[in-house]
Amino acid sequence: MDAMRALVIEDYQPLRAAVVQALVADGFAVDASGDGEEGAWFARDTTYDVIILDLGLPGLDGLEVLRRLRAQGGQAHVLIVTARDRVEDRCAGLDAGADDYLVKPFAIPELRSRVRALVRRAYQRKDPVIRIGDLELDAGRHTASRAGVAIDLTPREWMLLEFLALRAEEVVTREQIRNHLYEFRSETASNVIDVYIGYLRRKIEREDLPRLLHTRRGHGFVLGLTP
Ligand code: CA
Repeated sequence: MDAMRALVIEDYQPLRAAVVQALVADGFAVDASGDGEEGAWFARDTTYDVIILDLGLPGLDGLEVLRRLRAQGGQAHVLIVTARDRVEDRCAGLDAGADDYLVKPFAIPELRSRVRALVRRAYQRKDPVIRIGDLELDAGRHTASRAGVAIDLTPREWMLLEFLALRAEEVVTREQIRNHLYEFRSETASNVIDVYIGYLRRKIEREDLPRLLHTRRGHGFVLGLTP
């Protein structure tokens, strides 16, 4: 994926750090601020693809940050994350020019999905299908098929396959997988990633078709057409 820029404006440091880490793992160049004034200043001076915006902020309220951004013609896709979940709060956010709204507490994977959806929108990629040769992943429906034959995947297998597919033809290390997919981080067995790579291989590889999931010894894995 292209390097995209994201700005995180959130004053609760642990959440800010978790969101930044997730976006960095997804390949974003990320700036972050815990202050509304400073965040608004960042947003004005740099072109971001996505802005993750808290509403309750010191310095300047998140809604005001958003109004200023839109008043200055800023086109960034804005995802509001806030504990304010009354209907009027959501409406105020969307009316001020937000693209989406996520109520705290939320799960990091949901935030990542929402951000991906915004990015697809940003690039007019309405088609959520990722294609690697004859392998197709539908990121919207979480389904996959090879040469037209549906592949039955568990949620964890799907996450791993999607992670590899978004980085097709690149080496993905075990460390990246562990850092990115917390489902694998929580596992104590050190070989859990290799075990799941094995499951994926059995499901996506076919004797009559070119191999797609390659192991780079000492490095990691590559999903792609290049052997
Ligand atoms: Ca806050």
